[in-house]
Amino acid sequence: MPYASGSELSDAYARARDRGYGFVASNVTEPNILTGLVEGAERAASDLVLQVKRDSAAFAGRGEPATGLEILGTTARALGRDADVGVFLNVDHVPADDRAFLEACVESGIPSSLMVDASHEPFEENVARTREAVELVEAHDEEMLVEAELGMIKGVEGGVETTEAYYTDPEEAVEFVDRTGCDLLAISIGTEHGVSKGRDLELRPDIARDVGDALADHGLDTPLVVHGSSGLSDTQVQELLSTGVCKLNKNTRYQYEFARTACDFYHDHESAIRPPAGVDDDRQGFFADSDWSPDKTTFTPFRVCEEVRERIAEVMVGVAELAGSAGQSQFQ
Ligand SMILES: [Zn+2]
Repeated sequence: MPYASGSELSDAYARARDRGYGFVASNVTEPNILTGLVEGAERAASDLVLQVKRDSAAFAGRGEPATGLEILGTTARALGRDADVGVFLNVDHVPADDRAFLEACVESGIPSSLMVDASHEPFEENVARTREAVELVEAHDEEMLVEAELGMIKGVEGGVETTEAYYTDPEEAVEFVDRTGCDLLAISIGTEHGVSKGRDLELRPDIARDVGDALADHGLDTPLVVHGSSGLSDTQVQELLSTGVCKLNKNTRYQYEFARTACDFYHDHESAIRPPAGVDDDRQGFFADSDWSPDKTTFTPFRVCEEVRERIAEVMVGVAELAGSAGQSQFQ
């Protein structure tokens, strides 16, 4: 499958809205999560929306986010080419004041979409910053979609902590989309960034419905996005997808699955990797003075990464089934 473009992503969201399902947009913090997500999407026959945030790009690029985007984007493209479902890449939470990274994203031609975040700014400033990003994309004649955010979501994002949620106002949403020309709109309805338990959230799916209806009344069919879906119950996810929401962002869950799988693996296989008490910790000589040796078939990175990928794939199949994108690939 050729790596999918912004216009194909636009079709994917339109199709999801028509048929009443959504996409769980899945954040990639390192390459094995990416590989697991592609595997899972293929098993589920679901198209896949990958996301890379600035911090993950900076981590991959030894501190240089544009380099990291190229690294992760190249991996996503290569795996997407060989997959039999569509693979899209969104750059998540590009700070509107980081003009250099914004330009690097657009000029790279890598992302199918990017999210520009000026949601912490007052309304007029948010409009102006978002509009600038839309114009930048248009000036490059790119098909890239632009997601913007209106309202504030509790939690920590890009090192900035937001302690109060500010719910999106439907009439403001109409004005915002109309004036900025953004392609997708992230709204605040009570989810949080990071780890949260669904039972502790004051979710307002009614707001998502009101925003969707207000946009539709003004002839706008902008897909809505909800950030911070890790920890939501299946019922909460389905409730949201029954409104105008067709993109739910998920990041923290995959990070936990990565850590948990690696932790369980090393715990279960400790005796094959760490010398028992009384054996000299002679790594240089590979424990030459002992009968004990570490087991290469266990300590090879392939083993733990294989388990991580498999677990991420299983989770991806589950979320694609829950969101309804399973079996709906537009490329099959
Ligand atoms: Zn977010």
